[in-house]
Amino acid sequence: MHSYPIIQLKPGKESSVKRFHPWIFSGAIAQQEPVEEGTIVQVLDHQGHFLAIGQQQVGSIAIRLLTFEDREIDAAFWQERVQQARYVREQLGLWDASHTNMFRLIHGEGDGFPGLIVDLYGGVAVLQCHTVGMYRLRHILAETLLAVLAPRIVAVYDKSAHTLPYKAPIDPVDGYLIGESQPWQAVEHGATYRIDVEGGQKTGFFVDQRANRHLLATYASGKSVLNTFCYTGGFSVAALQGGATQVTSLDSSAQAMALTDANVESNFGPDASHTSVTADAFDYLRKLEQTYDIIVLDPPAFAKHHSVVDRALKGYRKINRSAFESVKPGGLVFTFSCSQAVSKDQFRQAVFTSAAQSKRRVRILHQLTQPGDHPINIYHPEGEYLKGLVLSVE
Ligand code: SAH
Repeated sequence: MHSYPIIQLKPGKESSVKRFHPWIFSGAIAQQEPVEEGTIVQVLDHQGHFLAIGQQQVGSIAIRLLTFEDREIDAAFWQERVQQARYVREQLGLWDASHTNMFRLIHGEGDGFPGLIVDLYGGVAVLQCHTVGMYRLRHILAETLLAVLAPRIVAVYDKSAHTLPYKAPIDPVDGYLIGESQPWQAVEHGATYRIDVEGGQKTGFFVDQRANRHLLATYASGKSVLNTFCYTGGFSVAALQGGATQVTSLDSSAQAMALTDANVESNFGPDASHTSVTADAFDYLRKLEQTYDIIVLDPPAFAKHHSVVDRALKGYRKINRSAFESVKPGGLVFTFSCSQAVSKDQFRQAVFTSAAQSKRRVRILHQLTQPGDHPINIYHPEGEYLKGLVLSVE
């Protein structure tokens, strides 16, 4: 039997654990044995009854819970969890899909791995730890991924250096835990993308917009499309696949624009009707002269914390207003927020205000969210982050 260090909660503080919420906040803790950050601990109520097992963390979230069962966290435990994650992707039809070979395999709390993200791009799994606890286990996690996913994957890349809490007393260096560097490519809805696992943002690609890009393709025939915050150009490629007559892609990062150009060229050749703009989207949208049939707004998370939600909402109002003011009559705006701290209602309210300011008639055609490979643990509503609206503008 295990002998994990004990953390005991204050009276009454066990209620969120009993509702299976996977976090324990520091204020709930009565006493704890001193442990190194990331250590696996057992959580007891104030009477000493077992509640859960988790990983200790420094900060306001003091423990991330792994299980509510009194059991050992060993190789078999992780193997079971990875198998469950794989099973859900099989259910979703992603595991054997012929049109797509990139998807999220592990979505943090949504898959029972608090603090861990794993995305698959063809033969490589990119692992991103957000907690020291997961980082300490990266080698066993990589071996488990290989055991459960081979021969599908041949490499595991650890990309945690920028996602770990910066105060942690560890010196993370990104690198391959298994296998070696290759020019990775992956397919989404029949289009091929170069995935810059090592240098790219996040794990290299935003797989969460797969279905929404596909939706854009169904509207794109014969249309001009402006794709702002384009990163690797996924929405641009989808628009061209759907028969758009002209696509303009914009990002403030020159590196992102180079990836977009490469992805457009490898799928449609050098003569694709595509224009690249390296610029600030706020400036560009404000001064927009050309009108488009469809505008895509997929900015980065404007609010990383609840304290900056107001500023984030201001940002959403600004770009949405510019889009409503400039889109062609009868056009569409695809607008998104991936800020977890901004609620669906707050986002919709911001878009509503922008629509009113533009004085156009606006209708919601689609309400979009994150796909099934980014599951939300029902006891952890914080896992819901992606919100989108497709609006028709008269
Ligand atoms: N739509 C993309 C993902 C967007 S990620 C996809 O489907 O893959 C957000 C992007 O916004 C990043 O590439 C980042 O470089 C870019 N960005 C951030 N701030 C920006 C700004 N002010 N203007 C333009 N681009 C910006």
